[in-house]
Amino acid sequence: AAKEAGKNRYKCYDGTDQAGASELMELRSYLRKALSRGELELYYQPQIQAGSAQLVGMEALLRWNHPKLGPVSPQQFIPLAEETGLIVEIGEWVLRVACAQNKAWQEAGFPELRIAVNLSARQFASGDVAASVRGALEASGLEPRYLELEITENMAMKNENLPTLELLRDMGITLSIDDFGTQHSSLGYLKSLPISRIKIDRSFVSGIGKDERDEAIIHAMMLVARRLKLSVVAEGVETEAQYRFLAEHECDDIQGFLFYRPQPAELIRKVLLQHWKS
Ligand code: C2E
Ligand code: MG
Ligand code: MG
Ligand code: MG
Repeated sequence: AAKEAGKNRYKCYDGTDQAGASELMELRSYLRKALSRGELELYYQPQIQAGSAQLVGMEALLRWNHPKLGPVSPQQFIPLAEETGLIVEIGEWVLRVACAQNKAWQEAGFPELRIAVNLSARQFASGDVAASVRGALEASGLEPRYLELEITENMAMKNENLPTLELLRDMGITLSIDDFGTQHSSLGYLKSLPISRIKIDRSFVSGIGKDERDEAIIHAMMLVARRLKLSVVAEGVETEAQYRFLAEHECDDIQGFLFYRPQPAELIRKVLLQHWKS
């Protein structure tokens, strides 16, 4: 019974609930062992081209399956991994697995896709991100153009991150701004940074058809992106109406439950087979 309670306890934390201090400490110590115990797994969520519905990429999303607690949400454990510094090691693992998986799909004969990996601020602050990325590419044999790195506005705005971002861009990697429009940043940085893609945050997408202000913001984002020659992907697309609005506003790519949920690699293989059969 205690096991069951524990399960539900952690499951419902979504960053909105306040976890107790002792629970957080417990979670932190479990997390320290998660990687070596093989409890971490990558899920992949397909991205499709608006209009053609062709698969163009995948976002790698980290999952933690704790044997007793059950699945722990990344909203819950990523902040802990950042705070403890574990994110550097975990992030390196994510890069390696994602690149190797993408290469494996290519070698299985599927058309080439780009794989997007989330980076955290702490990876820039306390690790050599460029070296981790290079290591993952070399170990897997994946060409850099099939890798995309997602960073947040705050990470993009930090002057000290600029040399690394330029290095990554020069390697041929795509850099995108995740959760675009949700943090404290100016639009001006878009012109001087080596960014080529923005991800419209779900909080705007969910207002489509309900709140004209969200629609106005998306419209403005699309205009800026087009003029700056940035590609745009919308995340969290759940309804036909949202999809139609985004396609009409010339959003390049779509990611969301309407098309695909994040899934483990074995299931994505089936998605790929299905998508390209015939
Ligand atoms: P994110 O990078 O913005 O990822 C998108 C999140 O939206 C994912 O949540 C995904 O499952 C969810 N999502 C996608 N489509 C829909 C939809 O149609 N409806 C709804 N309601 N949700 C949708 P997830 O997988 O729980 O990840 C949460 C966050 O955790 C990510 O947000 C990212 O910030 C972080 N994260 C995940 N994996 C990693 C990782 O490997 N490294 C780092 N540093 N952060 C990660
Ligand atoms: Mg992301
Ligand atoms: Mg996002
Ligand atoms: Mg998000």
